[in-house]
Parts: sequence; C-alpha cells; structure tokens
Amino acid sequence: MNQSVNAPPLWKQLQQVARVNQAVMSGASGTSVLETVDPGLRSGVQALCFYVWRNWGRAQALRALLVRKAPPPLADALLCSALALTWQIEDNAYDAFTLVNQAVEAAKRQSATNAQANFINACLRRFLRERDALVAATDLDPVALWNHPRWWIARLQKDHPQHWELILRAANQHAPMTLRVNPRRKDPQTYLGLLQAAGMNGQHLSANIIELQRAAPVQAIPGFEDGWVSVQDAAAQVAAPLLVEGYLAPGPWRILDACAAPGGKTGHLLEITDAEVVALEVDADRAKRIGSNVQRLGLSPQVIVADAGAVQTWWDGSLFDLVLLDAPCTASGIVRRHPDIRWLRRESDVAQLAATQRQLLLTLWPLVKPGGRLLFCTCSIFRAEGDAQVQAFLVHNTDAALMPSPGHLLPHSSPAREVVADNSLGDHDGFFYALFEKRKA
Ligand code: SAM
Repeated sequence: MNQSVNAPPLWKQLQQVARVNQAVMSGASGTSVLETVDPGLRSGVQALCFYVWRNWGRAQALRALLVRKAPPPLADALLCSALALTWQIEDNAYDAFTLVNQAVEAAKRQSATNAQANFINACLRRFLRERDALVAATDLDPVALWNHPRWWIARLQKDHPQHWELILRAANQHAPMTLRVNPRRKDPQTYLGLLQAAGMNGQHLSANIIELQRAAPVQAIPGFEDGWVSVQDAAAQVAAPLLVEGYLAPGPWRILDACAAPGGKTGHLLEITDAEVVALEVDADRAKRIGSNVQRLGLSPQVIVADAGAVQTWWDGSLFDLVLLDAPCTASGIVRRHPDIRWLRRESDVAQLAATQRQLLLTLWPLVKPGGRLLFCTCSIFRAEGDAQVQAFLVHNTDAALMPSPGHLLPHSSPAREVVADNSLGDHDGFFYALFEKRKA
C-alpha cells in the first residue's frame, strides 16, 4: 500500500473506503463500486480497499472483540476498514496513530457517521492500547488468520489437502503484471529488448509470456496501443495454445469462443491461428469490449451477443473444429487480483455455477465436429468447478476422450515462489483446464 506525497487527505479517502466497503459487504462488486469514486481519489481509495479486503477477516474478528453490537453499516464499515489498516504494524504506509486520527476525522466530517465519531474514536484508541493481546486472541479464528470466509477455507482443505495453506497465502499477495506478446508483431526476445530500452525489466517465462518486474500503466508499455502485447495472466495464456496445438485438420478452422468477453482468449486464438473465430457473449455491454480489445491487435472475430446455452437462437448449424468454453465461475482462482471476491461469494454460488457449467458443457458438445476438440476452463480452484465436472461429463458422453490437460493450476505467491507441481509458468493465477476430443464414429 503505497501512498504518494501528493495524495488527497487521508480522511477523505477513508470516507470513500467505508462507502465502497459498505456496498461490497452488501453484495456489490468492488470493481464496479470503485468506478463510482471521484477520479482524483480513485487510485488511493483502490489501494486502501485492496489492503482492507485482504485483511477483512482479521478486522471483523477484532471488531467482534471490541464491541458487543455493531454500529450502523457505514460507521461499521469505517471502523472495520480502520482496523484492517492498522492491525499490522509493519507493511503500512501510515503509522497507526495517523490512521486512527484520520478515521475519526472521516467519521466527524460526514453527517451519516458523525453521531458515531466518539464511539469509533473510543474503539480505535482501545485497540491501539491493547493491540498485541487483541490480535493474539483473534489468531485462534481461522477467518482472521487466513482472511477468507470459513466455508472457503474448509472447501480448500477438502479439495487441496496438500496445498490449501499455500493457496490461501498466495491469495493475499499481489499478483504480477504479465504480458502476452503478439507473435504476429514481435517475438518475446525482441520485445524484452524493447522493454529494456524503455527502462522496464521483464522476465520471459515461456511461450509468449513475459512477467514485468514492476506493474505499469498500459500507456507506458511499449507498443501496447499498436497491439504488440496484451495484459493477461500466465495461466490464462494456457487456453489458446492448448486448444489448437496438435490439431491437424485442414483449415480454415471454425472456432467457437463460447463465453468470450472481454476477449482476452479470443485475441490469443486469432493471434496464433488463421481460423474463423465466433465470439459469443451473453452480456451486451461486456461484448462491446471484445471488439475494442481485439481491434487493438489488428484482428477481427465475429461477435454475437447471445446465450451460448440457447443454441437455436444463434447457431447456423455448421459444426466447429474447436470450442473454447471459458465458463462463468466463482473466480476463486483470481482473488489476488480481485480481493473482494472471497467476501462476495456465498457457498451456494459454487453449486449454482457448477450446474450452469455442466449445462453449457452438455449443450455445446454436440456442436463439435467428430475429431474436433472442446476445451473446458474456469478461473476457479474448487474441484466442483474442475475435476468433478470432467468426471461427470465423461460418464455421460462416451464419444469424449480426455486429452493430456493441466487440470487444476494452483495460484503462486510471488515472493516465496512456493513449489507446486505446475510451477513451470512462474507466478500465475488459479485455473482449471480439461481438453476433450470427440471420437470419430
Ligand atoms: N474468455 C474471457 C476472456 O478470456 O477474456 C473471459 C470469460 S469470463 C470467465 C465468462 C464470460 O461468460 C462473462 O463475460 C459472462 O458474461 C459470459 N457468460 C456467462 N454465461 C454465458 C452464456 N450462457 N452465454 C454466453 N456468455 C456467457
């Protein structure tokens, strides 16, 4: 959490942090609420919010020790945000006393929390006096210790008994900025040289994947506007090559990208093939982003706004060589980049999303040519959205053969680079991949 010297007053930022958190804890997505923050405050508020979400479990446990009854929602969001920001002494841009003073100032200066300013002040001062004992008491609570909901921790313990701690640790780290070099424009070695010339350092991980040493705004990245590179996590970059490599049918191929927005994988497919790509997306607003993202690369898919599951509304009856089903999921593999997700999801979402994935998989399979392939993927680390789907699908579809596939890719944490089986990609998000081939009759 870095705050620049010219940052707006902290109390102003904390008011926005509390407002954003109140909305997120009532179910709104952090990304969309942050877009409503005044542009002059947004980057500082976002940095504070990300820190708060990574420490929200601890903050709530501390608040439960400090007060018997939570104050009204906005005051509670301000109190918990201040606790999240002050409970760790190291690793903070502000000292704890400044944070507490500014949180009280934030409460005083808006009518919705003014009446609770003295209460917030008393809670936070007591916290500062008794910090060590209070923090030690919350260490016994797994939600405080891991900063994830209890059901989420239990599911990971069951799904990944060897790696659940590593996954939770990784989820609280910052994700690196990773680029995908467009092979139609540059090769990774040439591009590394261009980065260096621009005073930026990168590391070539594999294929067209480059990890930047330090994140930068896309406008500062050489050739971004000209489509030389895209920003895409290393695990997400597995999709397009996995689907097409070794597929030997004569072209031109027809590829369906069934859940395509914002078009990251559509662009990758067009970069590495000369196929005709149909990009389907159910959400009309999100679909607009496919065109703009792919145009930057100088490429053009056929974009259709439709529900992939309602085949009769969009399909012209010609079979596809290759189908990419990047299905809607809990996004449990990308919480490093979206730290609010863990607090937004409910346990019941897992089964609901898994049912949608199962249905899409069953509906799209008949659209694949004999000898063709379907790649099922989710950015989830829950087995219900990965391995379990594959087992169920194979039982009912005897014309499907599972090809060599990565399965569950587990997220890595940057500084420690803890070793799990799939570490050849370097630091990446959590993902799941299963590639099916349709047997010829
Ligand atoms: N493949 C995209 C990429 O790499 O940029 C990310 C896809 S995101 C995981 C899933 C997308 O599927 C969302 O944009 C969502 O709106 C869309 N979606 C969900 N249900 C769908 C459906 N039934 N038909 C088509 N698109 C759907």
